[in-house]
Amino acid sequence: MLAIINLVILVIMLKDPFGRSIDYVRLSVTDQCDLRCSYCLPKGFKDFQEPDEWLSFDEVERVIRVFSELGTRRIRLTGGEPLVRKGFEQLAARLAALPGINDLSLSTNATRLEKLAQPLKQAGISRINVSLDTLQAERYKSITSGKLDKTLAGLMAAKQAGFFPIKINMVVMKGVNEDEVEDMVRFCIEHDFTLRFIETMPMGDTGREAANHYVDLHEIQQQLAAKYEFIDSVMHGAGPARYVRIAGTELRIGFITPMSQHFCETCNRVRLSADGTLYMCLGQDHSYALRPLLRDGISDEELKQHIIKAIGLKPEKHEFRENPQQVVRFMSMTGG
Ligand code: SAM
Repeated sequence: MLAIINLVILVIMLKDPFGRSIDYVRLSVTDQCDLRCSYCLPKGFKDFQEPDEWLSFDEVERVIRVFSELGTRRIRLTGGEPLVRKGFEQLAARLAALPGINDLSLSTNATRLEKLAQPLKQAGISRINVSLDTLQAERYKSITSGKLDKTLAGLMAAKQAGFFPIKINMVVMKGVNEDEVEDMVRFCIEHDFTLRFIETMPMGDTGREAANHYVDLHEIQQQLAAKYEFIDSVMHGAGPARYVRIAGTELRIGFITPMSQHFCETCNRVRLSADGTLYMCLGQDHSYALRPLLRDGISDEELKQHIIKAIGLKPEKHEFRENPQQVVRFMSMTGG
């Protein structure tokens, strides 16, 4: 009887108010980052949360276990830069060992992957996405304040460790790196990486500033289609990219178009920030603070009920276009 009740509750629990199944959590383990990408964090920014504001590894594991009991199968570890959190590989191993979780992936800037790729593979991370907006060292420095060499070394270490697929995320910006789209295509063909182009989003003042460099990715698609033959394709993953494959190669290219063609009707995710706030939408403020509840000693059953209540707050869509001033959080605060 209990099993039947649980099953009925499960079916209800998995749906948001718009009938979308929520089975994917993007988990930010820190808001800190070792880079200052121009569209994400201001140069010199240091106003991060204090580490004691973050959920502990025990708390993270508990929340994710309860999510998995509510049907979540996929977790993406993100930040900030997740690899700056001390002991990250131990947390990854604990999450990978949870019975319900069958896809544990990572978004990283790769600056620390040279050392960590192998341990992370052993910990049970299955897939990696790497942010890489340019292949030019000077430009990389100007966009991120970091060193391209370190990121490329991390990327190659991930390949060496056997991660596949490795997806490169390139935020395309007019007057900044738009001229490198074809270089990036060749680079990804050469190394057998998947390439995803992303439109800038107006998150925080930095994101709004980047809107001055906004490129509608349909333009990029047309530019590439004039040179390469596209074949429609699909990729394993829970994300919003629409993929094509370039004929005669294994290269898949994804277009992530939150601005020019949003994909909210297929949204299947919520985001848990490092301080234990559940955000229902990247582009809206609907949120639910889990940390005080966890520290008040609520039971797992109560935690489940709170998560269900939180998912009931999920809005229909973001309003990046209609209301670009709305989101004051930088992407790194929510967990990108
Ligand atoms: N540090 C990790 C990384 O580099 O992938 C994870 C966090 S980062 C915030 C996640 C992704 O968000 C990156 O691919 C980054 O390029 C993207 N991002 C950050 N701010 C953005 C914005 N305003 N518009 C579009 N993409 C943004």
